[in-house]
Amino acid sequence: MSKPKLGVFKFASCDGCQLSLLDCEDELLDVAGAIHIANFLEASREVVEGPYQLSLVEGSVTTPHDAERIREVRRESEFLVTIGACATAGGIQALRNWADVEEYTEYVYAHPEYISTLDRSTPIKNHVQVDFELRGCPISKRQLLETVNAFLNGRRPNVPGYSVCVECKRRGNVCVMVAHGTPCLGPVTQAGCGDHGALCPSYNRGCYGCFGPMESPNMTSLEQWWRSLGVPERDIVNALRASFNGYAEPFREASDAIAK
Ligand code: SF4
Ligand code: SF4
Repeated sequence: MSKPKLGVFKFASCDGCQLSLLDCEDELLDVAGAIHIANFLEASREVVEGPYQLSLVEGSVTTPHDAERIREVRRESEFLVTIGACATAGGIQALRNWADVEEYTEYVYAHPEYISTLDRSTPIKNHVQVDFELRGCPISKRQLLETVNAFLNGRRPNVPGYSVCVECKRRGNVCVMVAHGTPCLGPVTQAGCGDHGALCPSYNRGCYGCFGPMESPNMTSLEQWWRSLGVPERDIVNALRASFNGYAEPFREASDAIAK
């Protein structure tokens, strides 16, 4: 029986999430034994045409060409998984979504007249149907392998939807917010970072939300906590917006409501 074909596609992104797949040094041969890596330009120039049984999509949509290309990728893919903060939330490039993109373009490019770009950076799910989202900046290689394994075995990936706080409790961390008054986004951020979870609080610093929103985050409670620590409204808005996941729905809605 032929192996299912895997395609890995890049949109506006830094390539870090694709590298997580190449970073699976010990497991990569097993992955290659179970699945045909048919289209992965970061790893090989050889491209086997679709359709692909599994497609991993990194990056956000920022140009009219991207908006067209993601529809082609969707047509060629039986199961489409978005990987990383850019693909699931718009990425750090979504900072433009609260600004004037033409002004930004003039700051960055010597010849902005050659730049063709959209005024918003948007996640892949805003353009096509997505079968599963893997969060993180970058994604966790453990969760990536679990997702590929789940796909091969016809089951749903076992990826937690709970918060970083749960991992803090498991690790026996002293809460930086309760004990030290350090603002932390852990209560609303999805678990999964590092080898053992709760990476930043384990080193006595607050979480800044690189894994994006958990399932059903209580943003109101988080805001109240931060206010009780004396964090100014403007800083709450900036903490929610100026990150890789600022345009993810719960973070965006909360920061827009405060900034109104
Ligand atoms: S340090 Fe942050 S992530 Fe850990 S328990 Fe406290 S609020 Fe939650
Ligand atoms: S900011 Fe730190 S604690 Fe929070 S999800 Fe990212 S790595 Fe984990």
